[in-house]
Formats: sequence, structure tokens, C-alpha cells
Amino acid sequence: HLRPVAKQKPPVAWTTGKKNVLFIRVDFSDREGNPLNDEAAMFSMNRTNEFLGDNSYGKLIIDTTLVPGVLRMPKPAAWYQAEPESRDDELLNHACDAARVVGAKYNYRDYDLYIVCFDSIFDGWAGKARVGTIGLWLNGGFSNDTIQHELGHNLGLFHANAWVPSQGDSSIGAGEHEEYGDPYDNMGNYSPYGHFNVYFKNYLWWIPDASVKSVSRTGTYRVKAHDHRESGIGVRALKIGKNSGRDYWVGVRHWLVGNEIMLRWGLKSGSSMSGDGSLLLDMTPETRREFEESQPRDHSLQMGKTFHDSSRRVSVTPVARGGDGHKLWVDMRVVYGSADSNRSPSVSIDGSSVEGKVGEPFRLTASGFDPDSDALFYIWEFGDGSDAAYGKTVSHTYFIGAGSAFPVTCTAVDGRGGSATATISVQVEGSDDPVNSWTQTTLPDTGNLSFAAFGGGQFLAGGDGGTLAKRDAGGTVWSRVGDSGTRQRLFGGAITGGTRLAVGWLGAVTVSKNAGAWRLAKGVELVNLEDVIHDGDQFIAVGKTGKVGLSPDGEAWTFHESGTAAWLKHVTIGGGTYAAVGTRGTIVTSTNGSKWTERNTPTTNGLESVAFGNGQFVAVGFKGTILYSGNGESWISAKSGTDEWLNDVTFGGGMFMAVGANGTLLTSPDGKAWLRRSSGTETTLGGVAFGARRFVIVGRDGLILESGQLAAPPVPTLSAALTKGGKLRLVIHGQGGGLFRIEVSDDLQEWRVLKRIRQIEAKPVEFIDESATADRSRFYRTVTP
Ligand SMILES: [Zn+2]
Repeated sequence: HLRPVAKQKPPVAWTTGKKNVLFIRVDFSDREGNPLNDEAAMFSMNRTNEFLGDNSYGKLIIDTTLVPGVLRMPKPAAWYQAEPESRDDELLNHACDAARVVGAKYNYRDYDLYIVCFDSIFDGWAGKARVGTIGLWLNGGFSNDTIQHELGHNLGLFHANAWVPSQGDSSIGAGEHEEYGDPYDNMGNYSPYGHFNVYFKNYLWWIPDASVKSVSRTGTYRVKAHDHRESGIGVRALKIGKNSGRDYWVGVRHWLVGNEIMLRWGLKSGSSMSGDGSLLLDMTPETRREFEESQPRDHSLQMGKTFHDSSRRVSVTPVARGGDGHKLWVDMRVVYGSADSNRSPSVSIDGSSVEGKVGEPFRLTASGFDPDSDALFYIWEFGDGSDAAYGKTVSHTYFIGAGSAFPVTCTAVDGRGGSATATISVQVEGSDDPVNSWTQTTLPDTGNLSFAAFGGGQFLAGGDGGTLAKRDAGGTVWSRVGDSGTRQRLFGGAITGGTRLAVGWLGAVTVSKNAGAWRLAKGVELVNLEDVIHDGDQFIAVGKTGKVGLSPDGEAWTFHESGTAAWLKHVTIGGGTYAAVGTRGTIVTSTNGSKWTERNTPTTNGLESVAFGNGQFVAVGFKGTILYSGNGESWISAKSGTDEWLNDVTFGGGMFMAVGANGTLLTSPDGKAWLRRSSGTETTLGGVAFGARRFVIVGRDGLILESGQLAAPPVPTLSAALTKGGKLRLVIHGQGGGLFRIEVSDDLQEWRVLKRIRQIEAKPVEFIDESATADRSRFYRTVTP
């Protein structure tokens, strides 16, 4: 609700900077009681501050001072109700006076804005505010939505209204103004996803004129989403002249999937706002009658569809989009000229039969022709539920559907309302790439599997109810362990020499020695254990409240604190450094397993797993979070390209592999650049291990996936020469990222290790054997692990 006051556009000082807000609660002798407790008031004001900060890109913040308690008004509620139109002003004055009596620091004149809050005594509105100046009533409307709306009035905004055409087929024909008719804006009949629109944000100086593209000639213009605090730079609105009084304002939202692109009318920039506020235009007026009284929610201009204003002779068509999340952008094609005589284009897709392989990208090219020589834009749909692609030549990868065919359509649009569509069928086959071809096994009557591990020529998987299953590297069949010694859920396992071990809830540590029966280790602290590894010397387990357990044999355990109370989910070792990760983005490292240091983390998302390979640590977690680090101490976020939860990561075959919710499978050579792969399933995947040149993934309901066998890495070749100083120089040609050792022997019988080498780059590694002498021959060899 609003009361028009100001008649000019607000100055920038009024709408930006830090504003001090005085919050006054009042009651009446005939309506006693505090309308809102302190906590609820501050909750609403904090949410309001976030909303204004997001909308203004941090240009406006508010700092609320709560006048303590409830202040009694000099008149009863009935007195104000008797003449609500005039006495509501007196109510504000009485409240301000009462606040000043409480203390000098509650003088409203020392504040930029004030709010008077009371239980509902007036009919017909929950909040009301003066436009462009101070004065705000909360008449029972205490939600942050209401406060945001009313503060919008104080800042200078009228309502976000809608234009409702009386004829069904035109968005902009004769019709009427519908007050509050914009369901996407907090100044209208807002949804929970309300934001102020681009015209309003420009009016309040939050989107500067430099970020508003004034369009007056034919062209293609990129517009960025405006509804995020970090979207503070670049073009966020197009302004297209409608007539002497009005402009079209075109804005893009990332929050409203399917309703991103909005066209509104606003007054010419520089003009003070009128009661028309902004007027949302309905890009699908033909559906208006179906919705009638209910809120229509299809106002947006859809990709490839053209809005045309025949009196202004301008056409607007969204022709491409891209960018993730709040970095969404849309390319808008604006064409000046009549559309009356426009002729449609034609289009075809090059190639008569197209084949794709699961997990492997393929390209398609369109050929289009427009008889009017209009520029053409191409929109592709691939039939697999993926986002559309844009451009004359596009690349696509099918991650599902081996053995089936997908219809692919390409629509060419000319930006003046003309379009043509071509369709082909793409046959999708399985892949030869071992990391794209997975064999599925399901263990019957098994709950969710949480982990997979490899060691001693054997894979081990485990999960719900103490389930354990194993498969020998050379075998093909998984067999369940009849009695694992526990019914607790198991989360991690490790195999070394003759010892197999799994850990889980409530201190469950179950051990099998030399292929014998599994027995529960006694005397383990009753802490939930999430993961275990063997470092060559001892077992290391991590778990709840940051506990780290150490054991030389898997049976006797000592527990240490790790310097964090966070729940540690996973541990790994690389380059002599242990790293463990856990809830709230926690990362701790250690050089001995018993003394730990918490590291700075770039995320608050929970981390589920960590791995080491190629000289790099990689951690994964909630919402597609991936971090990498060269030393375990400083960590950087990588772009995973997914919002799915990632449950586990491992390194093998020269790559990192991460698995997660809904069949998510990603690989990366270095932890930084990630590629989505096909797992062939949409089941959630819980754990992954690498051994015998295969990946094994386990997941929900007893699912086990095994990759094809990866090629064996080439053995590094060795050559020898003498340096100028007569020393022996070895040159090793190997693979980047490879790990090997150089060994020496006098008799080809006994070998001793000279040096372990991790070849970081592809170029050859040189090694000078300082111990070599000229008086006897020796043999050298390279050995890969
Ligand atoms: Zn209002």
C-alpha cells in the first residue's frame, strides 16, 4: 500500500549507502500488547537487509535500531480507526514522539528511515508507506516481504503493475492497468522469488545508466541476469523506446527457470515515477483467459519467440543463452522494421545419418537460408532432457541411452517472427572408452553400498547393515561376506598385506587376517568412523567430532584430536602429508597422523572425500563442490559443472574420478578441469576405487559398476651418458604424472632403490648417479608401481 508524496526521482544519496532505521513498536489502551518480539523484529529486518543488499548489489545496507519494548499511544485504537485516512499520519507522529521520550538516541530525526509497527487496527492493508520519503506503517504485516515492499515505497518506487490487454492476442493492445499485477516483483503481487525489476533498479541508481543498453538500431545485445548480489557489472537491461513517454525495459532473471526474460513498460529515464510504476507485459496473452483470476505465470518471452510492436516497428527475440546460475546471459536480437512482409527461412541439418557414442561429444551443423537476407539464429534440442544449445554448429554428448535413437531438432529464427525447423534422428551406441563403458552388477538383498577399496589383488565394498562384498582382481564374481562381524553401517575400508579392515558407525572396526573370518576389534572408542586408509606403516581412521584413530595392526587403536570438532568424512595421504576433510568445508592436515592443523577452506559446503594423485590433492562434496591443492595447505575451488552432491573421489589410471548423486560421474587429469562422463545409471553412487587398471563404483541398493580395463601405462625408458665431469647421467622418458623408481644392481640379481621419482611434466627426467664409479659396471632399471 502506498501514499504518493514525492514528485521527483530520488537522488542517489537517498537510495544508496548505509541507512539507519528506527523500529518503533506501539500499542493502544484498547488494544494492549507488544505486537512483535525483539527476535522476530530483527529476523525480519535482517532478511530485509539481505534483500536490499542483493537488489542493490551491495549499494544499500540498513542498520536497524529497535526501540525497547512497546510504546503506548496517547489515543485508543478506536480514535485512529474513526478517521483512518488522516489520523494514520498522527499515529506516526505520536509513535515518533513516544520513542524520543524513551531516550535521546531514539530521536527519529537522527535516522534515515523509521518503521511504526502495531497489531492490525486498519482494514484493507497490512503495510503502508509514503513514496520517496520517510513514513512507514506496519498494520499487522510483520513479514520481511511486507517490510521490503514498504521500504521500496520509501525509496521512491510505486507498484509493480501489469498491463492487461482486453484482446487476447496482443500483449500491448488496448487494455488496462492492473495494480500489483506483477507476480515477479516485490512491489507487485510478489512470489517468494521476488526481486525489484530492472526499471526500478535503474530508477534507484542500483543499475547505473552505463549498465542499461539503450537500443535504437538493429543488433544482437547480450543481457546478464540482474537478480543476484554479485551480478553488479555489465549490461543488465535493454531499454527500447516505445513512444515519447515510455520505454520497454528488458530484463533477465536466473531464479525463475522458464520465466527468465521479462518485458515491461517504464517511464522515460529521468522522469519521476508515476502511479503506473512499472507495467509487466504478458508475452503469452492468449493464455490469459485460461488463468483469469489466478495469477498467470507465463509472462516471459521464450527462447526463439518474437515479440513485435507493430506501431514502433520493432521485434525482440531471445536467440541464445548461456552461463551457469547467476551468470546466466541471454542474447536478444532486436530488429527494426515492419514484420508484415517477412518471409520465413528454411533450414536443414547437415549429414543424413548421424551416430553418437555414449559419453563422447559429436558435432552438428545447420544450413539455413532466409529469402529476406535476415540474419539467422539456431536453437537445438537433443531429446534427452538437456538444455538447448545455440549456434550454427553445436557440440553435444549423450550420457544416457546407449542403443537408442534421439530426435534432434534445429529451429532457425530470423528475429522478425519467422522460423523453420529440421529434425534428424541420432543413433547412440556404447563407447569404446573404458571410462565410458560400465558393467552393472547388483548384489541382491543389499542396502546401500558406501565405499569401495582395493588392495592385495582384491576389491572390497561395504555399506548398510555391516554388508561386505569382495571380488578378486582376476575374477568376475562378487561374493558377499557371510558374517562381517558387525551389523553397523560401514563407511570405509582398507586392505594391506594380509589384513582387510572396514570401519563404520559406533566405533565398528571389523578385521580379517590372512583371508580368515571377520571379527570386530575390541575396545575401540564409540565414535562414528567414516574412513580408513593404510599408509604403509599403520591404519588411520577418521570420524565424528574430528577424531583420528591410529592402529599398527587394525586391532589396537589410539585416538587423537585433530584440532577440529567437525565431522571428518575422508582421509588420504600424498607426498608425506595426510589430509582429511569433513563437514562445513573442514580441511585438516598432518605429517605424522597424530598432530593436525586446520587449513583455510574456500567453502562452507560439506566435504565428503579427498584423494591424492599427480602431485595434487582433490576434495569433493555437497552441491558439486570440488577443491584442489598442491600441498594440502592452500585450497582452490574448481568448476565441477554440476550441482549434484559428490560422495567420493579417487585417483587411478592417470585421472581423478568423482562420483555422486543421480549417477554423477566426473573425471579430471589434474583436479582442475572436469569432464562429465556417462555412468549409464541415475542411481546415486557412493564410493569409487581403482585397482588392476579398472574403476569400481558402488552405490544405492547394492549397485556395483565396473569400468572397462584401462591401457597399461607405458614403462619409462632409460638411457645413460656421461656428463662433462665424468658422472653418470640417466635420462628417463616417461609419461607426465607417472610414478616410478630407479633401481641399481651389480649382478642383475639384487636390486636396490636409488631414487623414487614422480614425473610431473611430460619432458624427460634427468638423474645423476653420484655414487657411480668408473671402475666397475652396473645395471640400472626403471620400475613402475
Ligand atoms: Zn504498496
